[in-house]
Amino acid sequence: MTLPDLADRLLPWFRQQAREMPWRGCGDPWGILVSEVMLQQTQVATVVPYWQAFMATFPDPAALARAGEAEVMKAWEGLGYYRRARMLQRTARALMDHHGGQLPRTAKALEALPGIGPYTAGAVASLAFGEAVPAVDGNVLRVWSRWQGSREPIDLPRTRDRCAASLQPLIPVAAAGPFNESLMELGATVCTPRAPACGGCPIAGDCVAREDGSQALLPVKAGKIRVRSVVSVQLVLLGPRGAWLTKGPEEGLLAGLVALPSQWIDMAHPARSADLAPAPVLEALVILQTGLDASRAGARLLRRFPFRFTHLHADFWVYCLAWEDPERDPPGEGRWVSVEALSDLPWPTALRPVRDALSMQS
Ligand code: SF4
Repeated sequence: MTLPDLADRLLPWFRQQAREMPWRGCGDPWGILVSEVMLQQTQVATVVPYWQAFMATFPDPAALARAGEAEVMKAWEGLGYYRRARMLQRTARALMDHHGGQLPRTAKALEALPGIGPYTAGAVASLAFGEAVPAVDGNVLRVWSRWQGSREPIDLPRTRDRCAASLQPLIPVAAAGPFNESLMELGATVCTPRAPACGGCPIAGDCVAREDGSQALLPVKAGKIRVRSVVSVQLVLLGPRGAWLTKGPEEGLLAGLVALPSQWIDMAHPARSADLAPAPVLEALVILQTGLDASRAGARLLRRFPFRFTHLHADFWVYCLAWEDPERDPPGEGRWVSVEALSDLPWPTALRPVRDALSMQS
């Protein structure tokens, strides 16, 4: 995706979908800094009344710098993570001591203040002063990992650096703040951790995870990678009208992608690994999907291949079975697609060897 592409897709979406927040567009660098500190670890809805009350009590760095600790803690009471309040007061005092009570205008200078890390510095510099620098928080890392299909663990500093470096040239100079906010907003409201709403995502057309169905596997965290082994038995029913494709899910990971009748077996499952080898699973699958007597159905192995997801090693067994009754469809929702048309459909990356094997038969 080129520079105008990403911004051109994100910014109109953001203008329409951005949630109202009192600090958005307030133009007050101090207010923006306070909101960024409060939003660390805390939801927007919780922060709003705290931010309003805090700004009424401490409308500028000078007010916070001269306040007593008890007064600051009282204003923060209930928001949690009280270290943030103490650090914010240290920031305010440093602003009074070294910057005449004003926030410096660049991310580099902001990061030199106590209590301000790279994300907060980038957010304040871009949102308050329009500096074209990235602001990479957890939301942005999640969007970026999925959009780019990155398998780099996001809890490593080098991944954060790589994300920032890759976003830097995509930031429009005239709209750095809205660009950064739109990425954060996308992560908070659309590209959410568990159930990304890819159907409403403005960058879905270029998203690698969306294309290969790996949204739930991304982003990767170094501390949490646990590789599991699974066997995936897939069934290709070939009849006079082509191959039988089942109805994939409408939302989530594999929405809109080609799906075949299938069964997945977690080989680490202690009660199952012994007796759920591909052959008996295939028999069960054939009975379920066709109503045929599996022992007489004559399924043949079309392809067997491994596929590595981030924390899943899958052993694919793909069987082919002739469907000879032109009057009747297999049970369940699905459709026939001619073998010639199969390659025009969107296949998950893991199943592309099946697509290729079928194309060679056409
Ligand atoms: S298409 Fe889905 S996974 Fe990709 S960035 Fe959008 S919401 Fe996230």
